[in-house]
Amino acid sequence: MAVYLDNAATTKPADAVISAVTDCLRCHYGNPSSLHRMGLEAETLLNHARKAIAVSIGAQPQELIFTSGATEASNLALRGAAAVYGRRKRHIVTSAVEHSSVQSTMSALEEQGFTVTRILPGADGTFHAEDFVRAVTEDTCLISMMRVENETGTILPVGDVFRLVKRKFPQITTHCDAVQAFMKIPVHADDLHADMISMSAHKIHGPKGTGALYLRKKTRLSPLMTGGKQENGIRPGTEAVPLIAGFGAAAELMQPTIQERLETVTKLQNALISMLSETEGITLNRSPQASPYIVNFSVRGIRSETMLHFLEEKQIYVSSGSACHKGAKSGVLAAYGVPDDLADSTLRVSFDAANTVDELQLLTDALREGQRKLIHK
Ligand code: PLP
Repeated sequence: MAVYLDNAATTKPADAVISAVTDCLRCHYGNPSSLHRMGLEAETLLNHARKAIAVSIGAQPQELIFTSGATEASNLALRGAAAVYGRRKRHIVTSAVEHSSVQSTMSALEEQGFTVTRILPGADGTFHAEDFVRAVTEDTCLISMMRVENETGTILPVGDVFRLVKRKFPQITTHCDAVQAFMKIPVHADDLHADMISMSAHKIHGPKGTGALYLRKKTRLSPLMTGGKQENGIRPGTEAVPLIAGFGAAAELMQPTIQERLETVTKLQNALISMLSETEGITLNRSPQASPYIVNFSVRGIRSETMLHFLEEKQIYVSSGSACHKGAKSGVLAAYGVPDDLADSTLRVSFDAANTVDELQLLTDALREGQRKLIHK
């Protein structure tokens, strides 16, 4: 039996999700823009999913724009808002640990002439709201912060920062990449004081290739593409109705159990941390403010990929840093001050509530065996 501990990379689609997707493909294949009954059926599915996801973050259904995933949602949010609000104001604030979908977009905006300030965590590995607030100026048009950082699970004080920033400069547009928080810890648009929030379906047991951008009423965006009037003209193109139906089913399934899963996963996290702490040669890379869904650690003297493949032979699946980097050196860990040799031997375990303590014992035993067999290779 496989031990899957890479849930921050992606999750297993739930049975209800698979049924929703296949049912839609088989039976409700009309185009939601068509005026006939089959079109209406597809539109009904779309609206149902839109409502389920919107309600889960305290938003109105019409404030949700479906995209191909969170990467597109963040590109749309940042490039789209920069195009509208960045004509005269050319400064953007973000954190130094954003996912590549935000970091690379920031670099692209720099090439367009924007100045980007990237805030680092303090020496204790936590982010301080004042550092962000101090960085915004009269010239700032946009601030973007992730809620849960995907490599170490660090929680960023998004709600505090956005509230304080808005108090100082109400016209600044706020964006939050909530991918690793959505359906894991409470995400509420008003509590976060966010104008835009990126979400992804495949991290919550939904299908790959769909996600959404929450866009607060009255926030304006320039679309990335030209085309039809779908999604209020902000994201033209026929909606991926089967995937979106699956996204909605995942949201309906996950929303009622956020608290219960959080408690289960906290127990798993505590169990793993105590097992790893008792293992010589393992250093935890952990900020005091972190999501229990992610545990990041370094196995001294063994490269991440070497250990990852050793574990894989035992059907234990973890990640070396973030899957999105495909093993490339993590700039995020450097931002926390993790030295290069430890960063090179980093593994990320990310839980689902269905994981068990027995699985974590198998992982720990395999890590210890790996240390004995691999360390001098
Ligand atoms: N943001 C974060 C924090 C992520 O962890 C990921 C995926 O790893 C993404 C964005 C990208 O999401 P998607 O795969 O839907 O484009």
